[in-house]
Amino acid sequence: MKSLVRLGIALLLILLGLVSYCNNTDKNPITGEKQQVQLSPQQEITLGLQARQLMTIQYGGFYPDKLLQQYIDQVGKQVVARSIASKSPYPFEFHLLSDARTVNAFALPGGQVFLTIALLKRLTSEAQLAAILSHEVGHVVARHGAEHLTKQAFIQPLLTAVNATATTDVTTDQATVIAQAVNQLVSLRYERNDELESDRLGLRFMTEAGYDPQGIVQLMQRLDAFRRDGKPPAFFSTHPSPDNRVKRLQTLITQTYPQGIPRNLKDNREAFAEIVQTRF
Ligand SMILES: [Zn+2]
Repeated sequence: MKSLVRLGIALLLILLGLVSYCNNTDKNPITGEKQQVQLSPQQEITLGLQARQLMTIQYGGFYPDKLLQQYIDQVGKQVVARSIASKSPYPFEFHLLSDARTVNAFALPGGQVFLTIALLKRLTSEAQLAAILSHEVGHVVARHGAEHLTKQAFIQPLLTAVNATATTDVTTDQATVIAQAVNQLVSLRYERNDELESDRLGLRFMTEAGYDPQGIVQLMQRLDAFRRDGKPPAFFSTHPSPDNRVKRLQTLITQTYPQGIPRNLKDNREAFAEIVQTRF
């Protein structure tokens, strides 16, 4: 009899778990996609800030040039403010990292975005910079990191631990589960579909913000042309091949602008040359 009661309780718990999982299906207001995300935006922000330090350490620290830091942050924030991404609840911050060998950019849940100096040095216009930052904003807005964590076995203890950081002292176990999530976020490689979704969102954000969409095509081509010891840059290590992405993006650009790219969309090549290229 006792075991029957126990079985009943276990079944009830499973059922409750399922109900709460299904209740967490939200429609993303920006992508329109139905998502199962167990973390609230506030919890995403907390975890992103926890992971920021590790990300920064792994890629050589913040780049010491304050003017360049300001410029990156300003371009990123403009993209958000002037596009539909402004409707998202995240306080975005854009950081330049000192790593001079790894050509890459990253996003953490909650709005922490990074690119390496090695990547910045490969760019020749503000539209290309806006393109890479917009793509990363796409990962944040589409909540790809939070979706990944939701699928992990430790999601329930993680939620409890993240909430504990706001109210009480965290226990050792809670600190461990947060560290586990932080490690995963810092080394996370998004799935192919997530990358294609971020390409589409990025294209939308950058053009809404007034940048020439050719910037994203040029960015892919420039990164593809850069190979170290025959290896493509880290940015493409798990991404769909740049060839495919360039074709998709070009099709999307032609569909969006059948009459040609509007003249008011700028690439700001001169401003970029003056602010960035003169500093190397
Ligand atoms: Zn990406």
